[in-house]
Amino acid sequence: MGHPTTPARIAAFIGLGAMGTPMAAQLARHLNGQGRATLVWNRTPGKAEAHAAEYGSVAASLEDLDSADFIFSCLPTSAEVDTCIDRLLSRLRPGTVWIDCTSGRPAAAREQAARLAAAGVGFLDAPVSGGPAGARAGTLAVMVGGDEATFARALPLLDTFGGTVLRVGPVGSGFAVKAVNNVLMGLHLLSVAEGLASLKKQGVDLAPALTVLNAGSGASFSSQNKISQQVFTRRFSPMFRLGLLAKDAGIALENVQEVQASAPLLAQAAMLLRAAQATVGGDVDHTEAVRLVEALNNVELS
Ligand code: NDP
Repeated sequence: MGHPTTPARIAAFIGLGAMGTPMAAQLARHLNGQGRATLVWNRTPGKAEAHAAEYGSVAASLEDLDSADFIFSCLPTSAEVDTCIDRLLSRLRPGTVWIDCTSGRPAAAREQAARLAAAGVGFLDAPVSGGPAGARAGTLAVMVGGDEATFARALPLLDTFGGTVLRVGPVGSGFAVKAVNNVLMGLHLLSVAEGLASLKKQGVDLAPALTVLNAGSGASFSSQNKISQQVFTRRFSPMFRLGLLAKDAGIALENVQEVQASAPLLAQAAMLLRAAQATVGGDVDHTEAVRLVEALNNVELS
């Protein structure tokens, strides 16, 4: 918000999942106000048609997205983005910018950027944090990798769903930051669950214990926003799949190993999240990872 605007013509959005749906809706609302179109494509076409009906976007075939000046993607992993680039690459015009909001791999971003650059197409990795609610509110944290000129061109559009939109370095940097963000989130979630499980075994009443922890220096985003809402209630509402969090933590671990950093806590969090996924499944909300801690301690966090 509050950035200078530059003319944006047509935008396109690939992937209308939990995140892509509200992000593309923000783009459509912004561009419709300027009399400009937002094309949307989704593997399951009914979702694109429903998006068009609800948010004023335009459902299109993947190939038709070649008319867009800015192509956004938000897919599960870099592999699905590669497939879309394969299908579109020969059709794209020089000057187009591809903005990948997937939580992807830095190495994949560098390869994708190089392939697109050969066709004169710019690339930004621009993963997001803040969940579907943040997208609906236009307050997502957006961490962007890419060159400054391409970032400046894309910024007015990124601002439609972002509250904090920052360039963090060259291509791949956005994905690197996002992977650290999410492995930290997973680490915090598991560690607060471990702390609470040990307290329950000591006979402590968890509800007031969490309240004072959240008022103290042990608080984290997970302890403040996930435990009482999702875990104590046993609601575990599906917002962000555990399989995606385990994937992100795996990317963080891959990046740690690539630069030979020493990060034993992050490595352990990545392994535990993978174990949680194997135990409770990848399609449940990520907060169900606490079930692993519950099983290890034979307690329920409620
Ligand atoms: P969802 O599972 O809700 O949606 C995935 C989307 O990808 C759907 O549109 C799906 O299409 C599409 N898709 C899946 N496989 C393919 C394929 N092989 N080819 C083409 N399209 C495909 O995911 P999210 O929206 O939750 O996550 C998207 C990205 O955003 C991930 O990288 C995730 O880590 C990240 N993220 C998620 C957050 C969250 O809170 N959910 C928060 C921040 C980042 P279809 O409808 O046909 O299944």
